[in-house]
Amino acid sequence: MKHINVALFVPHKGCPHMCSFCNQKTISGTSSELTQSDIDEAVRIATSKEYDKENSEIAFFGGSFTAIDRKYMIQLLECAYKYVDSGLFKGIRCSTRPDAIDEEMLEILKNYGVTAIELGAQSMDDEVLSMNDRGHTAEDVVKASQLIKKHGFELGLQMMTGLYGSTPEKDIETAERLISLKPETVRIYPTVVLENTRLATLYRSGDYTPETTEEAVENCSVILDMFNNAGIKVIRLGLHSGGNVEEGFVAGAFHPAFRELCESRIYFDKLKKIIDKEKITGKITIYVCPSEISKMTGQKKSNILLLEQMGVQAGVRGDGRLGKYEPRVVRED
Ligand code: SF4
Repeated sequence: MKHINVALFVPHKGCPHMCSFCNQKTISGTSSELTQSDIDEAVRIATSKEYDKENSEIAFFGGSFTAIDRKYMIQLLECAYKYVDSGLFKGIRCSTRPDAIDEEMLEILKNYGVTAIELGAQSMDDEVLSMNDRGHTAEDVVKASQLIKKHGFELGLQMMTGLYGSTPEKDIETAERLISLKPETVRIYPTVVLENTRLATLYRSGDYTPETTEEAVENCSVILDMFNNAGIKVIRLGLHSGGNVEEGFVAGAFHPAFRELCESRIYFDKLKKIIDKEKITGKITIYVCPSEISKMTGQKKSNILLLEQMGVQAGVRGDGRLGKYEPRVVRED
């Protein structure tokens, strides 16, 4: 049975200022204030079909949930909690800033059925954080993550690549530091420059160049593989299409199938290593986990065509004994 995630947006609520890249109204496609009747209506629609109650959540995204006006935050939590209390959902998830977490807040969240907290870390480089107007430090991410885990919540961390002032090396260091905090889940967003943001101004003045989609795929495929090797679930890779992102897009790495591009890249890089090491040419069969065949093949057979340019003619087959990102090569000549 399908699990559902009732995503409710509180765009920019609680944010002390605007981060360089952020335009939640464009990302979420909503600008009105979330009300209790919006929550009731979203839950009514979501629960009108069969779903897995044990694994479904109500989620507050798009702002700094724990920094919003306390009375309003509690009204929203009370409204959502009645559905958790009646067994329709396993819990509530919220996203917030690392500097808006303390013991008292965690007690409140626990009392209202919050089970998972996601922190917008974005970078673990203090200079990058400052250049992008985040208003918190890497140490704030460490402290908040430790506190969240100590209080028994599921920890989610969000990071961005290609931010103003960042480099692929700094992004990889960020991923390493996030792995050391042992989150249960991660979201990775290559930077997309949106209208009405400071990044758009910096981009137009020539002071900032975002990653191209190709560069972001290269960078994010390495990072995705790192989280995968550490056993950490990447629940999102790349900005969602939808909302008003297409209309607000200025520049950067935005592709509706971004994750698939990264996964195909992981397979190609692993294959290339094997081929180079074993000096393979001619015909081969590549075996992968059966559900991964299309990722190995690549969009429009891109990986197969790249292999051909290296003098290798490859067929791809499924093998249920293989795990994710574990290609096995058999020579056919
Ligand atoms: S704290 Fe989060 S939601 Fe608020 S402006 Fe920054 S990125 Fe956007």
